[in-house]
Amino acid sequence: MLLKGRNGIIFGVANKRSIAFACAQAAAEQGARVILTYQGERLAEGVRELAAGLPNGAIALPCDVGSDAALDEAFVAITKEMPSVDFAVHSLAFAQREELEGEFVQTSRAGFAIAHEISAYSLAAIAQRLLPLMPNGGALVTMSYLGAVRVVPHYNVMGVAKAALEASVRYLAADLGPRNIRVNAISAGPIRTLAASGISDFSTVLTLAKTRSPLRRGIEASEVGDAAVFLVSDLSRAITGDVLYVDGGFHITSF
Ligand code: NAD
Repeated sequence: MLLKGRNGIIFGVANKRSIAFACAQAAAEQGARVILTYQGERLAEGVRELAAGLPNGAIALPCDVGSDAALDEAFVAITKEMPSVDFAVHSLAFAQREELEGEFVQTSRAGFAIAHEISAYSLAAIAQRLLPLMPNGGALVTMSYLGAVRVVPHYNVMGVAKAALEASVRYLAADLGPRNIRVNAISAGPIRTLAASGISDFSTVLTLAKTRSPLRRGIEASEVGDAAVFLVSDLSRAITGDVLYVDGGFHITSF
């Protein structure tokens, strides 16, 4: 068991298809006690049920990253349940649907701001609040996508926000390394989830991943969960500030 006796927080569970839930399952199977967080009351019941099905006393708590007040409130409840945290997985993002349809050149000021605030700034906002809970070190992992470094049709402002997220991983890794806290990203291949359903023409992206990746198949959320376990476990103890591609090798291909 790679995470026996460890405590972790998994941010961004919406339903059983969420990459966050796959990370929670993988971590719990490796012995960790996890707190699953969800955005709001609408998701509460479903996520509580998902947590109840996991081993080692997993629970679910609300955490909206959209304001400092909501984050502070969430961390009061988190701290009460888990005064000491070994790892966290940040698996959440948001962009307005209209920003994921047309051209990037039409991005609105408000659309740019909200995508960056929720999808990128939230990593630093969470890291700040984790510091007192990780006095002896820890590991933080976030979820990115190839659209951070290559142009993916319709990914638009979310690609730019993921670039900010990957840069944030490097800056946070540099800040937190001396405290023995590691920060990494997983760049996952396309997976059908609630968030992915907002991206227009997502099925083309899925088909291309299946037909053009070196492994000639799509990837599953459980495979991202396993990579997240690696990145929060001692097996990756010398790795920080990096982006690990879990995409069947798609990112190395040209055409
Ligand atoms: P998902 O819809 O299951 O998860 C997205 C989560 O973000 C949801 O739980 C949602 O509630 C949460 N969220 C949105 N706004 C929030 C806010 N203000 N406060 C708190 N939470 C908020 O979809 P997913 O595909 O599992 O997405 C998880 C992460 O994985 C995202 O960062 C996404 O960009 C990334 N990712 C997804 C894919 C894919 O193909 N599905 C590929 C690469 C990366």
